[in-house]
Amino acid sequence: MPTFVHTEKCDGCKGGQVTACMYICPHDLMKLDVARMKAYNQEPDQCWECQCCVKACPQQAIEVRSFQDWVPMGGAVIPMRTDNSIMWTIKFRDGEVKRFKFPNRTTPVGSIDPYADKPPAGDLDSPLLFTEANQRLPVI
Ligand code: SF4
Ligand code: SF4
Repeated sequence: MPTFVHTEKCDGCKGGQVTACMYICPHDLMKLDVARMKAYNQEPDQCWECQCCVKACPQQAIEVRSFQDWVPMGGAVIPMRTDNSIMWTIKFRDGEVKRFKFPNRTTPVGSIDPYADKPPAGDLDSPLLFTEANQRLPVI
C-alpha cells in the first residue's frame, strides 16, 4: 500500500528545488505541487513501501498506508529517524500507542571515511575494479 502526505504538516521542504522525499525515493514517485508547496505520491500503485521517504521527511508528514493484515484499519506504524536512532511508533486501533527506539549506529555522525583504507583512484579506463588497482590482468 502506498504512502500519502499529511498536507497540513508538509512545508514543501521550504521551497527547495528537490525535496527530501523526491531526493530519496528510489522509484521517483514523490512530486512537489509547486503552487501549493505540498508533496504527493504521483503514482501510488508503484510504491513498494520502502519507507525511505517516511524516514527522510523532516516534518514527519509522510505515512505509509499499511496492509490491513498486519496493520488493521485505524492502526498505524510510523518510523522516525534521527542521526543515531530510529523510533517506531505503533498506534493500535483501540488508541493504545507504543514506541520502540533502537540505535542505528555505533560511531559518531561524520566520523566514517569510506575511502580510508582504499588505494587512490587509478586509471578510470582500466578494466580492473577499484579495489584491484594493484593487480595485473592475467595473460591469456
Ligand atoms: S520531505 Fe516531507 S516536508 Fe519535504 S516535501 Fe516531502 S512530504 Fe513535504
Ligand atoms: S515508500 Fe519508498 S517507494 Fe514509496 S514513495 Fe516512499 S520512498 Fe518511494
